[in-house]
Amino acid sequence: MKRDELHLSTRAVHSELDEKRVNRPVASPIYLSATFEAADVEEQIRLEAEGDTFYTRYGNPTLTAVERTLAALEGTESALVFGSGMSAITTTLLSFLGNGDHAVFQREVYGGTFRFAREVLPRFGVEVSFVDCAETEGFRQALRDNTRLVYLESPTNPTLKLVDLSAVAAIAQSRGVKTFIDSTFATPFNTRPGDYGIDGILHSATKYLGGHCDLLGGALAGSREIVRDVRSYLKVLGGILDPHAAYLLLRGVKTLGVRMDRHNRSALAVARAFGGHARVRSVFYPMLESHSQHELARRQMQGGGGVVSLELQGTLETAKRFVNRLELFRIAPSLGGVESLVSIPCLTSHAMLSREEREQAGIRDSLVRLALGIEDAEDLIADIANALAGLG
Ligand SMILES: *Cc1c(COP(=O)(O)O)cnc(C)c1O
Repeated sequence: MKRDELHLSTRAVHSELDEKRVNRPVASPIYLSATFEAADVEEQIRLEAEGDTFYTRYGNPTLTAVERTLAALEGTESALVFGSGMSAITTTLLSFLGNGDHAVFQREVYGGTFRFAREVLPRFGVEVSFVDCAETEGFRQALRDNTRLVYLESPTNPTLKLVDLSAVAAIAQSRGVKTFIDSTFATPFNTRPGDYGIDGILHSATKYLGGHCDLLGGALAGSREIVRDVRSYLKVLGGILDPHAAYLLLRGVKTLGVRMDRHNRSALAVARAFGGHARVRSVFYPMLESHSQHELARRQMQGGGGVVSLELQGTLETAKRFVNRLELFRIAPSLGGVESLVSIPCLTSHAMLSREEREQAGIRDSLVRLALGIEDAEDLIADIANALAGLG
C-alpha cells in the first residue's frame, strides 16, 4: 500500500518506524538515555551531524518515532517536538526573526504568544504588527519590505474565529513571506494547514495530540528545510521534549482519530442544544449555521473541534454560578483531554487584557468556555441543562 494514500487513523498507528524489522516491539520503547556511545570516533562525528543517537538534546529515537507520526498526520516532510507548546512557538519564532525584521501576527492569538510578540520580540529589534484574523486584506496591508513571517492561529480561543488559510497563504507567498499557524484547536483531523499552503504548523501537543492531560509538549510540522533550521536552534535553546513524555504523546496520538470524531460530534450536539435556550445569549461554534464564518468553516474544517463557548444572559456572577453548578465539567485550564473542562475566559486566559480589549475581542464577562471530553454527549447536555435551570 502507498503510505501517502493512507487515511489519518491508519497513519496515526503506522508511522513511527521507517523499516520493517523482524520481531520488533509493537509499542516503541522509551529511550531513557541522555547520551549514546559510538563504535569509533569517525562514527561519533557522523552521529553528531545527523541521526538521533548522539545526545538527547540533539535527538532521541523515542522523539523520532513521535516526530515521524506527527509529520505523517500533517502530511508534511518532517516534524519536530518540544517540551511545551510555548517552547515550539518561541523557538520557531526566534529561529526566523532577528534585528531589523518585521512580523505580522493576528491579534487573537494564545495569551503566551501575544506576550512574546508584544513584549519579548521588540527587545530583540523585531517590529511587530497585529491584524484582525477575519480581515484577510489586513494581512496584505500589513506586509512591509522587511516582513519575514506571518503568524496565524485558527480557530481562536475562546470565540472560535477562523483565518482563511489559502487566502492569507497566497498573499504571503506572493511577497516571499513564510506563514506559520498555531493549529492546536484544529488538529490534523479537522484541518491540515499544509494543504492550504501554510509553511509551518505549530501545536501545543499538551491538548488534543497528547489527549489525556498528562503531559506538556509542543510540535512543529513543515518542510525538511524549515524543520532542519528550527532543530538547529532547538539544540541551543534547549526546550526539548523528555523521552518519557514523548512516549506518552505517541501513545496518545494513536487514538487522535477516534477522539476527535467524538469531540466533533459532542460539541456540535451541545452547540445545537443550547442555541435557543432562554439563559444563553449566544453560542460560539464554527459548525453552527449562525457562526459568522460558517462557509469558511465548511471549506477548511472536517469538524469544529471540542470547544464550545456559551455567552450567558447575565453577568460574571451568572457565569460563576453556572460553572459552580456543573458536575461533569471540571474547573481547570486546558482542553483536548478525555475529561470535560470548563473555564471563564475573563478570569483566566484573558484576565491580562483590559475590559475594553476583551469587549473588542467579543469576550464578555458572562462568556463560559466548555472544553468537551469524550464522555457521552447526552450526559454532558443534561449536566449543562441542569446547571442552566438552576440559575433561576
Ligand atoms: C495551550 C496552548 C498553547 C501553549 O501550549 P503549552 O503546551 O501550554 O505551552 C499555545 N497555543 C494554544 C492555542 C494553546 O491552547
